[in-house]
Amino acid sequence: MDNIIAVANQKGGVGKTTTAINLAASLALEAKRTLLVDIDPQGNSTTGLGVDRSKLTVSLYQVLDGSRFLGEASCETELPQLLLIPASRDLVGAEVELVGADRREYRLKDALESVAAHYDYVLLDCPPSLGLLTLNALTAADSLLIPIQSEYYALEGLGAILETMNLVQRGLNPMLHLEGIVITMFDSRNRLSHQVVEEIRAHFPDKLFDTIIRRNVRLSESPSYGKPICLYDPTSTGAQDYKDLAKELISRGEHNVNAEKGIGERS
Ligand code: ADP
Ligand code: MG
Repeated sequence: MDNIIAVANQKGGVGKTTTAINLAASLALEAKRTLLVDIDPQGNSTTGLGVDRSKLTVSLYQVLDGSRFLGEASCETELPQLLLIPASRDLVGAEVELVGADRREYRLKDALESVAAHYDYVLLDCPPSLGLLTLNALTAADSLLIPIQSEYYALEGLGAILETMNLVQRGLNPMLHLEGIVITMFDSRNRLSHQVVEEIRAHFPDKLFDTIIRRNVRLSESPSYGKPICLYDPTSTGAQDYKDLAKELISRGEHNVNAEKGIGERS
């Protein structure tokens, strides 16, 4: 299986959580069994899917400290095909508490081992730092999806996360690969936005998703209603863009599977 995707970028505010929630929900709407794991102690994916953090008794924290199985922490969402592993506030402590633990970078990988095969996609919403939580995500993941905000410092952030990927590939997870780069908060009236897209396309022609996520105020409103965009405002451009991204991810995966089997390949 090759279905665990870390949504990561060491820069904050680039659209990781927005992408994790709405891509996960859109995959679920395409009838894909999807699990979203909130790895950020801020818990924005958790609250954004309408889960009340103050009422949690089991969350990712207990999974990482080894006291609960991952399945015990899963929460249902409004979409039957989408389950969530929520992050409670105490997750911030895990960063420090795990330091002395054995297999400290492998905790999430170990927890997902027997579970990931039950899903078509497992998305990991990462925090913006390079601590043990992010390392757990990159160690557990098969691939990395990098959201990039179309603004001036975007390429610097991209360089940093790609460097991290290389480090992880050389040690903790040699199988980790780049799933793709997705442009977020694109503003077609802004010339710089177009330049950033062109520059990334020039550097990573086959890794940049064709789908570009446009800036859309409905996307920033939906978390406060505890809903993904496809339920909050299904006719918005945000809902359309994340639906397109889900379809593109699915079709890329099918293409890869067919290529491995030699289907559609010229001999
Ligand atoms: P990260 O998880 O990388 O810190 P977020 O997904 O939380 O980033 O996004 C940062 C802020 O930008 C949030 O307030 C979010 O609502 C907003 N945002 C993200 N993507 C869009 C978009 N396409 N259009 C408008 N606002 C967006
Ligand atoms: Mg976030």
